[in-house]
Amino acid sequence: MTTTQTPGAIAPSSAAEVLARCDELDRFSSSPHHLERVHLTPEHKAANDAAEAWMRRAGLTTWTDAAGNICGRREGRTPGLPALLLGSHLDTVPDAGSYDGMLGTVMAIAVAERLRGVELPFALEVVGFSDEEGTRFGKALLGSQALAGTWDDDWWELRDTRGVTLRQAFLDWGLDPARIGEAARRPEDLVGYLEAHIEQGPYLEAADRSLGYVTTIAGARRFHLSVLGEARHAGGTPYPRRRDALVGAGEAVVAIERLAKASDCIATVGRIEVTPGAVNVIPGRADLSLDLRAATDAERDAMWHTMRAEIEAICAARGLRLEAVEQHNAPAAPCAGWLQQAVVDGIRHTGDTDPMGLWSRAGHDAMAVAAVTDIGMLFVRCFDGISHHPGEAVREIDVERGLDAFEAAVLQVAAAYEVRDE
Ligand SMILES: [Zn+2]
Repeated sequence: MTTTQTPGAIAPSSAAEVLARCDELDRFSSSPHHLERVHLTPEHKAANDAAEAWMRRAGLTTWTDAAGNICGRREGRTPGLPALLLGSHLDTVPDAGSYDGMLGTVMAIAVAERLRGVELPFALEVVGFSDEEGTRFGKALLGSQALAGTWDDDWWELRDTRGVTLRQAFLDWGLDPARIGEAARRPEDLVGYLEAHIEQGPYLEAADRSLGYVTTIAGARRFHLSVLGEARHAGGTPYPRRRDALVGAGEAVVAIERLAKASDCIATVGRIEVTPGAVNVIPGRADLSLDLRAATDAERDAMWHTMRAEIEAICAARGLRLEAVEQHNAPAAPCAGWLQQAVVDGIRHTGDTDPMGLWSRAGHDAMAVAAVTDIGMLFVRCFDGISHHPGEAVREIDVERGLDAFEAAVLQVAAAYEVRDE
């Protein structure tokens, strides 16, 4: 990698260098054949080391916090001022692409570098979160929840697929579980949090735009649905006497899609399991998952009531019974108006006079950070909406505009903060 500033060299804060740094992070993987970098592994350490070196080159003072997040800071006009946080995550899903999380982290470092000589009314911090995807321990947002002070001690006993507890993984990596509270930030020490991220959807591409601002991050509700019928002989039971749970579940899946498509909600049945699961037995039971998201919690909750009533009607008509158990319920995290405005102004700075707003269907570190400070997000167009897949791709021109917008947004935050503070 180029470290000297010779004429013609790639500037450390350019889009080309940002993309080169994302490529470099691809090297830190548990597999030589695909990208997989999960929480508290040697490759996590290597990615943190690389990010730390880039942060130092950007003039930041660096540390690894008590949750394994890599952090950097430069002071504002006077030392000790509250900080504007910029960041995203450095962990991945299995067989990942190169940009989900990494692009936002590397862009944040580049923006800090661009603003190196600029006096700001707050400190500027960059964070590369240790765990957003939850790949290793099945629990997402561990890094950002530690920072937000919403850590739950029950998580210490979570185990990875090899049986290693989260507590043991902390110890093995050189972190002290007893000090996890030290990663938590106080609201009064923060100005807000800005995150750039690939869109992970097709809307910007369809609208022929490089960038968008996020209005809110949807919170998902997840349910375990059980359709209960009666297992009987496949040959000996005539149709009027069948109570086939799988056929009822199939109708329910189609109804779930129809209702969601007619609204602004997104609903997914990702898993179905049939009991007893024999070729010559009518299914007596079907268990399915339901993941439900919308821009607002009210829309999402109303959709669940509608869906539940419809599925119950489908079941009743077939002599089946529905049981629904909620397994996860995260509230939506709206982006703060003043930070949305800063991101809008930042995008306008790139020549897009009427920036596109969109709600994030995917979860992000920002939704955890929202528990402790205001959040704002900038989306960068990605190819064909592909994400969580090695085919993830971004265009250099979009990253260039993204850097310009991100930098301008930070300056807008500075202007708004000074007005607000007067
Ligand atoms: Zn991500």
